[in-house]
Amino acid sequence: AKKGKNSTLQFYDQSIKEASDKVLEIEHELKTAVTNNEFELYLQPIVDLEQRRIVKAEALIRWNHPQKGIVGPVQFIPIAEQSELIITIGKWVIESACKIAKYIEQHGYKIKISMNLSPTQVLDDNLFNFLYSKIKTYNVEPALLELEVTEGVLVDDYSVIDKLLSKVRAIGMSVSVDDFGTGYSSLAYLKKLPLDSIKIDKSFIQDIATDDNDKAIVRAVIAMAHNLNLGVIAEGVEDNEQLHFLSKNLCDSAQGYLFSRPIKVEEFLQLIKEYQ
Ligand code: C2E
Ligand code: CA
Ligand code: CA
Ligand code: CA
Repeated sequence: AKKGKNSTLQFYDQSIKEASDKVLEIEHELKTAVTNNEFELYLQPIVDLEQRRIVKAEALIRWNHPQKGIVGPVQFIPIAEQSELIITIGKWVIESACKIAKYIEQHGYKIKISMNLSPTQVLDDNLFNFLYSKIKTYNVEPALLELEVTEGVLVDDYSVIDKLLSKVRAIGMSVSVDDFGTGYSSLAYLKKLPLDSIKIDKSFIQDIATDDNDKAIVRAVIAMAHNLNLGVIAEGVEDNEQLHFLSKNLCDSAQGYLFSRPIKVEEFLQLIKEYQ
């Protein structure tokens, strides 16, 4: 029995070591990924449910890894968040989103580009100045840019966030709360912070056609948001039943595989042409 226990421990040691080696390897590779131009922003359309038109697109990062191929954000953003790397990557995201917004506008479409900010980035003192300088460099209309921020950071660092969001909205950008409903129980921030919309997390949308609790939650969230003058975006919409429920309950817009997966910028341009 003693021997068995030891070998189990050894096995755990080994797998923990392998996992941390993997993290170190990714961290190492991430250091050169920006300068090697290995990142790419994909776009996923957000459809206005009344107009049935693409009004916005979420920018979602992908890593074109020289050996592994396309690596999704779930596999490297949490690692980048452990260090300053997220600031570097985040800056790349901001600059790229500005370029994309301008590029699409030059093709004759007014589509807002929303970008994800990680908590560390939001709390970085230089964020606003960096953002503003890129807006100037690319001469992009701030109204064509949106920031997505998760609930946690809004609740934790209220006064820092309040200042940042006020500046961001003063120049004409908009702000949405990402993954709404998954983070915090306190809703006080919704009435205090300058926000434009909330994105209902896909876990509430998934079973909406059959689950009465999810139906009740989503209806209540939409009503509450509207009473607070906030727009509502449903995430993870995959089928027509979900879409029908959301439309019927006056959700403002929707995003999900039903319309499109996240796609490359050129493909996105094709898609908007078909939708017009
Ligand atoms: P998120 O911000 O909640 O983004 C939505 C995720 O849901 C995306 O995964 C998207 O591909 C996926 N999705 C969209 N529609 C559907 C659907 O109908 N069904 C299902 N099952 N999933 C759908 P993705 O691209 O893998 O991104 C995962 C997360 O990585 C994002 O979650 C976000 O938290 C983070 N992320 C992505 N890009 C960036 C970025 O540029 N910066 C930062 N800081 N985080 C990012
Ligand atoms: Ca998001
Ligand atoms: Ca989300
Ligand atoms: Ca999410």
